[in-house]
Amino acid sequence: MRATRAIIHLERLKANLAEIRKKIGPKTAICIPVKADAYGHGAVRIGIAAIKAGAKFLAVASVQEGIELREAGIVAPILLFSLPIPEELEDVVRYHITPLVPDTEFAHLVGKTAERLGEILPVHIKIDTGMGRIGCRPENILDLVEVITSYPSLHWEGTATHLSVADSLDTDDRAYTQKQLQRFSDAVDALCQHGYKPGILHAANSGAVVLHENSYFDMVRPGLLAYGYPPIPELAKTVPVQPVMELQTHVVFMKKVYPGEAISYGRKWQASQETVIGTLPIGYADGLPRRLSGKLSLSIGGRRYPLVGRICMDQCMIDLGMDSPVRRWEPVTVFGGTEADPTAAELSELLGTIPYEITCGINKRVPRVYVE
Ligand SMILES: *Cc1c(COP(=O)(O)O)cnc(C)c1O
Repeated sequence: MRATRAIIHLERLKANLAEIRKKIGPKTAICIPVKADAYGHGAVRIGIAAIKAGAKFLAVASVQEGIELREAGIVAPILLFSLPIPEELEDVVRYHITPLVPDTEFAHLVGKTAERLGEILPVHIKIDTGMGRIGCRPENILDLVEVITSYPSLHWEGTATHLSVADSLDTDDRAYTQKQLQRFSDAVDALCQHGYKPGILHAANSGAVVLHENSYFDMVRPGLLAYGYPPIPELAKTVPVQPVMELQTHVVFMKKVYPGEAISYGRKWQASQETVIGTLPIGYADGLPRRLSGKLSLSIGGRRYPLVGRICMDQCMIDLGMDSPVRRWEPVTVFGGTEADPTAAELSELLGTIPYEITCGINKRVPRVYVE
């Protein structure tokens, strides 16, 4: 096993789902997004563990991601968040992946494909209530429903929307989310008044699970929260979760350096006094962003040691100091170990991004090690 590895704590995923369940109550179903290889955690293993822990749906962004889950034997419903192109529709039907349908053209295409293949495909209607990505305008929903219900090959199973600022505490943003939810409810009411059954209603991502209790409807779709990151750090205690991914490496080389000696490319860091430098076999090609050079401290045995010099493609260096107890071959936590360790959220803050980008960025060269 390579020295640099992502330990995936499935027991933490299970605990996080239990916290989400506690927050949303017993009646609302849970859909776990496993898009982008489960935010870097490994879609198949996370998908299986999530279903075992009580999730009813999984969700992917591409048809290929859905096929991967089906070929691994997963039979649970799989929602397709992004739109496929027409040439992918046969696979959508064959692998029984549930698309979100935003318009009549797409409804016809998918309806005809399912008809031709002699299948009945479940679909959910996607309403754009203010995200501005995919979805039909609320005023066009009846036209869309007419097309969907005209195809015996389509089973209208649910109706969804997506929120754009559900993770914001800002007053305007909270009002905007409420406006989105109101539009969603109004559209659903209009459907019911016309005698339609809109099926499973869902809107909430992680931010909404934490902040907007009236967003739960029949199902929630929390990704980030399931993987152990609070979508609103100020409200971390509302749904206490733990990082599922622990990125670990090892000290593979140690040496004493003397004042004025330089470390790494560009010789940007020079020792100001005698110290011990450790070398770690992890670099930006593994997903440790080069822009963290000189900014981050890594954890060994609960103590932090700063990265020095530039992060290379495959390696980086840390300053262990003169009297550190660290020994060669010891494990190093980059993020996500114990509470004393850095988290992907800390890395993302240093970079001005979001934790999603850190865990998604851990390269496939880094083996995933699953612990139950
Ligand atoms: C990614 C995604 C989610 C999950 O978002 P989180 O912020 O990770 O909870 C939910 N719904 C849709 C449509 C998405 O694309």
